[in-house]
Amino acid sequence: MKVALILAGGKGTRLSEIRSDIPKAMMPVLGKPILEYQINLLKEHAFTDVWLIVNHLYGHIEEYFGNGGQFGINIHYYIEPKALGTVGGVKALEKHLKVPFLVLYGDVMMNMDLNRLIQFHRDKKASATLVVHPNDHPYDSDLLDVDEHDKVCAFYAKPHPQDLVYRNLVNAAAYIFNPEVLNFLEANVKADFGRDIFPTLHEKIDVFAYNTPEYLKDMGTPDRLHKVEEAITSGKVSARNLNNKQKCIYLDRDGVINIDTDLIHRPEDFELYPYAADSIKRLNKMGYLVVVVTNQSVISRGLCTIKELTAIHKKMETELGGQGAFVEAIYFCPHHPHGGFEGEIPSYKIPCECRKPSAGMLLEAKERFNIDLEQSFLVGDSPRDIEAGQNAGVTTIRVKTGHGLKPHTVVPNYYVDSLVEAVDIIANET
Ligand SMILES: [Zn+2]
Repeated sequence: MKVALILAGGKGTRLSEIRSDIPKAMMPVLGKPILEYQINLLKEHAFTDVWLIVNHLYGHIEEYFGNGGQFGINIHYYIEPKALGTVGGVKALEKHLKVPFLVLYGDVMMNMDLNRLIQFHRDKKASATLVVHPNDHPYDSDLLDVDEHDKVCAFYAKPHPQDLVYRNLVNAAAYIFNPEVLNFLEANVKADFGRDIFPTLHEKIDVFAYNTPEYLKDMGTPDRLHKVEEAITSGKVSARNLNNKQKCIYLDRDGVINIDTDLIHRPEDFELYPYAADSIKRLNKMGYLVVVVTNQSVISRGLCTIKELTAIHKKMETELGGQGAFVEAIYFCPHHPHGGFEGEIPSYKIPCECRKPSAGMLLEAKERFNIDLEQSFLVGDSPRDIEAGQNAGVTTIRVKTGHGLKPHTVVPNYYVDSLVEAVDIIANET
């Protein structure tokens, strides 16, 4: 049995100018209730049972979906006696929830490969998995922080302090919970997962974050609803499902995104090129995944720890996010093949598959995001980057910033001034 819960009690007050006589979950998106998209997605992924947690004007929902027979899935209803936020209805179903279950929000348009999510939850042996994604306005979103194993170590409900330095990992409002999560929810108390539960849940049980570029967006205002409809019509919503091949821009970090002052190992030494955010934003809008692949021998040299490197990456993501740009993932190689230096960390002084010119990091991202290498590019400043791109079979663009002016026999597909021109080339080829 595969079980999902959908929180479908919302009134849709902000959509009342379009329709005020139906609950939010029944709001038509291109002529079909938003809830129907979710039901269909669950059915496609072999879910057998779905609980709809309903409240406002629920008769419309029941009339349309009935017992689910027409939709190939068993639909059950829980009618909330009063609105209890997002938590109350889930807690109220406790006696029915004996296996891990998926929780969705009835006002979120989503199209994702749920099998990958479920596999992640199993592989991590998680008690709870939260779906997260980077977005172009992280500064006013609920954010998470994770360790290097994707385990949640902090949850920051909005609003954030001005000086918060963060990973661009936004709570996307889809969860898998093991039944034990219910122990931490209070009955009959109005509460919200983002505001009241997640900020401390990771201190009690193992919560993991599943970071995906797939489409999950709420459509709670007329403007957002319009954007969701546009995204469906243009094919963007289904294209991003990781069942489909993705196109990607692999970016080297130092000398491409930020000024390379050599062996950067402190956040204060990290400075974005002034055009970096705009360039990455253009790639985001073109529908490419943007993945950073960077050799960071500063770790093996003992110049900084992985935690300190993470602090540098948080600074990068915060500054990009402040300007509406984001990267899907950051892969770094901490290794270096040659030992014998003072202060080095011997365990990282090893030959590896990830250090460029090897293609390891690119191939790891390929597996994770189902990347089509033939449609993808690498932008780097050093011959090592270009070789890594060639080893992976992507189109290579060398920039003249960073180490880009050093002559070399490795010939890239394109050789341009900076990331700006690299993005122009990508735009032309697309
Ligand atoms: Zn490595």
